[in-house]
Amino acid sequence: MKKKLLDYLACPLCRGSIRLRSVQEEDGIEIMSGELECAVCQRTFAIRRGIPRFADLGKIDEEKQATAESFGWSWRRFSHDDERYTEQFLAWIAPVRPDFFAGKLVVEGGCGKGRHTLRIARWGARDIVAVDLSEAVELAFESTRGMENAHVIQADIYHLPVKRVFDYGFSIGVLHHLPDPRAGFQSVVSKVKPGGHVSAWVYGAEHNRWIVNLINPIREYITSRINPRVLFHLSKLPTAIMYAATKLLYGPLNRSARGKKIARHLFYNDYLSFISTFNWREQHSIVFDHLVAPTTFYISREEFEEWWRDVDATEVVIGWHNKNSWRGFGKVTE
Ligand SMILES: [Zn+2]
Repeated sequence: MKKKLLDYLACPLCRGSIRLRSVQEEDGIEIMSGELECAVCQRTFAIRRGIPRFADLGKIDEEKQATAESFGWSWRRFSHDDERYTEQFLAWIAPVRPDFFAGKLVVEGGCGKGRHTLRIARWGARDIVAVDLSEAVELAFESTRGMENAHVIQADIYHLPVKRVFDYGFSIGVLHHLPDPRAGFQSVVSKVKPGGHVSAWVYGAEHNRWIVNLINPIREYITSRINPRVLFHLSKLPTAIMYAATKLLYGPLNRSARGKKIARHLFYNDYLSFISTFNWREQHSIVFDHLVAPTTFYISREEFEEWWRDVDATEVVIGWHNKNSWRGFGKVTE
């Protein structure tokens, strides 16, 4: 952690300011180990391996912990990255573009291994504070280590240990895995100052009925209970089916005007043609993610709109992404 992070931190329990109590080890601008302390309630928080730890996993409810653990494992296993991911990320946060971030103070609710964090830091954000509950924070820290404007914290999204000072807050692909997605959204919004903006991206309910009806029970009762290492190999079978379908059928058909007319009638065409250019690893990671998460909600447009109304956001823009998920962007008031 960099000293500058102290400007943004607040005690998750009493909102008091956080100060540095002790430093054991430093590496350049990074404080690698030491202790933080709340100036008001005196509660202490460890800094270990460069990351301030505001979440004691033993005390967080089991459901959330299981999600954090399974994703932590998947993020370590699928630690690839590529440039196409940038396009995908921009599609999730549209209409936000890279130049939006210049000079902005950003908070990320659920950063996983830091793929968005790294990009936003490179796009010139004044500072980005990225928060995740899972051990994927280790990867997020490593990928942004030594960058002056990137900060990684291990904490619970419901109790973000930061002040309400941010120009932009976002949560991508995380809220629908929380036991209470709406509370997670509200928590991110609560850290954005009036006039700032928020983006969120969640799985949609509308075109995902088949996942809700078919995959959800499989995931809930079987696959999320299997050891992730075993599931990693088992999930190659459904991946192989999807991979063959997208490479041999959806991809080729959607590349010609005549083919498109036929493809329109195919099952889940919008999404499957979109991922037809993805390689094996990327497709495998998608399938695995759908099978591993103990908690997944599919959110309807109506419900998603309600989230934004509830927080009194203005200038809200909600749109489909691949017709199977919702993205939203809005302005924070009061
Ligand atoms: Zn406190």
